[in-house]
Amino acid sequence: MAASVVCIASWNADLVSRIPRPLARGETLLADAFEISPGGKGSNAAVAAARQGAAVAVVARIGDDEFGRMALGLWHTEGIDVRHVDVAAGERSGVAQIHVFDDGDNAIAVFPGAGAGLDAVHARAAAGTMAVCRVVMASCEVPLACTLQAFRQARTLGALTLLNPAPAMPLPDELLPLVDVLTPNEGELMALAGPGAASIDEAAALLLARGVGAIVVTLGSAGCRLYRRGEAPRNEPGHRVPVVDTIGAGDTFTGALAAALARGELLHPAMRRANAAAALSVRGRGAIGGMPRPREVSALLA
Ligand code: ATP
Repeated sequence: MAASVVCIASWNADLVSRIPRPLARGETLLADAFEISPGGKGSNAAVAAARQGAAVAVVARIGDDEFGRMALGLWHTEGIDVRHVDVAAGERSGVAQIHVFDDGDNAIAVFPGAGAGLDAVHARAAAGTMAVCRVVMASCEVPLACTLQAFRQARTLGALTLLNPAPAMPLPDELLPLVDVLTPNEGELMALAGPGAASIDEAAALLLARGVGAIVVTLGSAGCRLYRRGEAPRNEPGHRVPVVDTIGAGDTFTGALAAALARGELLHPAMRRANAAAALSVRGRGAIGGMPRPREVSALLA
């Protein structure tokens, strides 16, 4: 099946240890629990879009190690097209070492591994797949050179572009006008706008003025808000759901939004579905544990 969503995807294996408190320099602590789970904002969003029924292809770079095989196994299980995955011989796949403390806080060290080598060549190699897709999405976990090339191609080929600007980092002026929909959380929106903005409304106005097509800012349990040039902001309130953990909520939001846009939905109804899908995702453990299917989203919105 031709892909309707192409994701320029980061991948990490999340190695999660539960320890009572942060480590001091030179200290060793016994962990209470340990697990390995799939992570990486791009991979998470790709899985969320696939679960929402989109035909998804990932453009990614992984190592030929056990964590690379874990990525391929996950993408296979989720029905994601891996023809544009570059398996780099002799390199390590991305890994995130995550310490979760008794108070629920955490500390994370991410090694992007082979993913750091994703570049414009990989985007160019996927041009044929992009030519028939509806949406190209990326996050700031992948090298900007690859995202820039992919979004330039998407513009030429008539696909929508979706950027989750996480983790927050300064974005080049040439990228912003290539972004049709930006999906920051509040902190990322304020960081992107810089010190000139005193509120999220001001931050959104600044970024729209720099050329972004539309901004959907996620507001945690409060839902999300849509900004477009020349229009009043539109709110979508949060859903009240039992929270197990919110890891991957933002990625679920971006992936579900991409899937809805790829089906041809307009931005506001697509954002409603993404908001419901992300709310449902916080009921499950880990990044992908709670990612819902379309009928669960429809049931929540009914
Ligand atoms: P994360 O970094 O945890 O993946 P984020 O900071 O990128 O998330 P948030 O704004 O916290 O993004 O959450 C994204 C979306 O997830 C929200 O817009 C909302 O739809 C949903 N969501 C998050 N937390 C909750 C919650 N406690 N209750 C209901 N919905 C939630």
